[in-house]
Amino acid sequence: MGQRNADRIPITMRRAQCETVADMAAAVWDVITACRACGLAMAVDLALVARVSGPKTTLWNRKARCRRIGCAGWVDFRAKAPGMSIHETLAADDRLPITEGERARRNREDG
Ligand SMILES: [Zn+2]
Repeated sequence: MGQRNADRIPITMRRAQCETVADMAAAVWDVITACRACGLAMAVDLALVARVSGPKTTLWNRKARCRRIGCAGWVDFRAKAPGMSIHETLAADDRLPITEGERARRNREDG
């Protein structure tokens, strides 16, 4: 039984604990945007996003236009939680994995 490496935890599994920019800032996530067309990468200021758009803003499954002049590409939001070695795209199935409590509740309803 090897210990599970923080690196091996898919970022989607972290979503339940880090849905909003305030959550991500509190958990010291490093968030960037990366353009699909030109590759331009930029740091995302989570505190600024929280101030401008509200602390409950989510970056999951979001995309935005590239900021580079002349580039019409779309950027993905990518994040690196502490312990992760690379930034992963904040793309997640909107159906969150069900919790143990939810599983138990559903089982009770089935029976
Ligand atoms: Zn671009």
